[in-house]
Amino acid sequence: MTLSELLPSLGCEAADHLEPGVWPRSTRIGEDGELLFAGARVSHLAARFGTPSYLIDEQQVRDTAREYREALPDVEVAYASKALCTRSVLRWVAEAGLSLDTCSAGEIAVARGVGFPAERMLLHGNAKTPEDLKAALAYGVRRIVVDSLDEIEQLGALAHGAQQVMIRVTPGVAAGAHAAISTGTEGQKFGFSLLDGVPDNVDAAVRAVRGQPGLRLAGLHCHIGSQVSRVDRYEAAARRMAEVLVRIRDTHGVTLRELDLGGGHAVPYVGGEPAFDLGGYSRRLRVALAYECAAHGFPLPRLTIEPGRALVGPAGITVYRVCAVKRGSRTFVAVDGGMSDNARPSLYGARYTTRLVGRRSKAKRLPMTVVGRHCEAGDVLADGLLLPGDLHAGDLLAVPCTGAYHYSLASNYNQVGRPPLVGVKDGVATLLVRRETEEDLSRRDLG
Ligand SMILES: *Cc1c(COP(=O)(O)O)cnc(C)c1O
Repeated sequence: MTLSELLPSLGCEAADHLEPGVWPRSTRIGEDGELLFAGARVSHLAARFGTPSYLIDEQQVRDTAREYREALPDVEVAYASKALCTRSVLRWVAEAGLSLDTCSAGEIAVARGVGFPAERMLLHGNAKTPEDLKAALAYGVRRIVVDSLDEIEQLGALAHGAQQVMIRVTPGVAAGAHAAISTGTEGQKFGFSLLDGVPDNVDAAVRAVRGQPGLRLAGLHCHIGSQVSRVDRYEAAARRMAEVLVRIRDTHGVTLRELDLGGGHAVPYVGGEPAFDLGGYSRRLRVALAYECAAHGFPLPRLTIEPGRALVGPAGITVYRVCAVKRGSRTFVAVDGGMSDNARPSLYGARYTTRLVGRRSKAKRLPMTVVGRHCEAGDVLADGLLLPGDLHAGDLLAVPCTGAYHYSLASNYNQVGRPPLVGVKDGVATLLVRRETEEDLSRRDLG
């Protein structure tokens, strides 16, 4: 049972303000109950682009990118494109001076499509295919983060020049809101172990890279997880990685100059969740690294970080239309989207909030469960929310914080076309990615 269920009277007051940090910065509630988003009326956008639709506030993405650069002026900030990989978004982050983190030939192709500078790009992945590696080499992606001895051998055979390589390390730091997104601990699939006696360990990786004439070892990488709100976890990872740099110097006689500490910065999805302390992160990383490096007479490495979610998640909302309200022992509000456009609740048990948009309701707030249209009982978008008792079919609902890992994790379950992505700036809406049609879906079916 949630607090709002225990205290229904609270819900009445809470329902008419927008939880700060959860809703995009530009959102306002209009006199008539309308939700204003980047200067546009959400119900107008729904009428024009249909529902469900992903809306993204272009200015907020640009501003967040700038804030990252200002908070970390001497750090390379690489946007993790898997969070939301479309041409327009990559253009915005390129214009903000950010670098780019890619995980596949497909993401590299989008970057290539907008001419993203290859010297500001990285390629990741624990199972890069030959196509992924060849795409990175062909485009000149500056750094490839290697994740296994097999990959080092495969890349070595393909690379001609001095391809820069970073070794992904498992730092043994537990972080991340869910086991599925906690990537920095032993016993998960990413990175080289720090344990002696494990065949794919860091020392073996250093020897393997240095044994490949086409590769040049540039540095180390780690990514402790996603939706991490505790800055001390990053501090611990930075310390551990500095120790590994020192150990590599002492064991192999090579001083590595680059250190990539990955992404994972948390964003609040529902009221009361902590926001990420970017200023504290910047300060504490700097102090931790400076201390460890000075203690071992090691030159301060050049830092890279890779936020994905934090750059785009809070800038997006999804608008749905209510198809049916079913009143029984529980009240179910069924919308015209669901786990095909938002996989996160079913993947990670992620929680969301929502609000009625387009009209004002004075009806008493009642606990309701917002569910999707798909043929699974687990297709629940938000549970135990207080919504107006007169909610009915045809109403519009908006869900905040949907800019990251919604579009990119979307599926065609039940043969449903994926929603469009609409960019909004200064009240002007632009269709960035159109809605997927039945024709798009049938085109691949050759039977
Ligand atoms: C997913 C991922 C990121 C970005 O994670 P966010 O939680 O979106 O910030 C960064 N680096 C690597 C290697 C990743 O796999």
